[in-house]
Amino acid sequence: MKIVKTVEEIRNQVSEWRKEGFSVGFVPTMGYLHEGHASLIKKSSENNDRTVVSVFVNPMQFGANEDLDSYPRDIEHDSKIVEESGGDIIFNPEPDEMYKNGFSSFVDMTVLTQELCGLSRPVHFRGVCTVVTKLFNIVKPDRAYFGQKDAQQLAVIKHMVRDLNIDIEIIGCPIVREENGLAKSSRNTYLSDEEKKSALILSKTIFMGIDMVKNGERDCNIILDAMKKNIESEPLAKIDYVKIVDLDTMQMIEKIDRPALCAMAVYIGKTRLIDNFFIEQD
Ligand code: AMP
Repeated sequence: MKIVKTVEEIRNQVSEWRKEGFSVGFVPTMGYLHEGHASLIKKSSENNDRTVVSVFVNPMQFGANEDLDSYPRDIEHDSKIVEESGGDIIFNPEPDEMYKNGFSSFVDMTVLTQELCGLSRPVHFRGVCTVVTKLFNIVKPDRAYFGQKDAQQLAVIKHMVRDLNIDIEIIGCPIVREENGLAKSSRNTYLSDEEKKSALILSKTIFMGIDMVKNGERDCNIILDAMKKNIESEPLAKIDYVKIVDLDTMQMIEKIDRPALCAMAVYIGKTRLIDNFFIEQD
């Protein structure tokens, strides 16, 4: 698997592909790849002639007390996953390649970032929007693939390309879970065996919420109260948030009368995990 470290190298490769008339798909990641990332790479390689995968732990999207330094990294393992999934090249820049001395331009968003992870992680989406815009400008793909695991991020990116007239199709891909239900995440590696068992409370509660909606419950408070109670029954779990928001605006709603997102962030010990489900309109 070809791994390139500089903007110049990835641009040269993509422009060679363009000369040959190839379409280009793009999967941005922070590495330590698993089957969730692999599903995005597979989808991209099915729909495009060539697929670029970026592996970049973006310092700008981590808050001061978050896990930037301990975030897991393993580029050799990543390159195997990219190869097996049909990716063609990895762009793996160092932070100083992405943020040159004197870097001072940012892409930010209001409204959609006010709730959920945007509320708990105030600098997060500014970092995400800035790095994704940079990566889009560097790679210039036709299509880019994002997981519904990070549902607010997916909504933010879709909104950003619309607002800023970025000519890239954004494709959302379903959450990939372990057999036991736990959503796959690079951060699952932080969990001890005991914590892994406790972490199942997230997916169990998601499935419970899905059932309540399926059975006709439309009152958000009733659904959220039941979900919170369920999470609180797990001693190692501490709720950051459990909310239901309008899918377009990411603002909280009281009744499910439009497409919505039910999302949660829960600490299992020191590890913050997220999970969610979409609620279609009746
Ligand atoms: P990350 O490396 O965590 O920044 O994730 C890179 C991309 O992979 C994002 O678009 C994520 O939403 C997506 N992703 C991460 N975990 C999963 C999963 N379990 N299922 C589907 N997509 C995922």
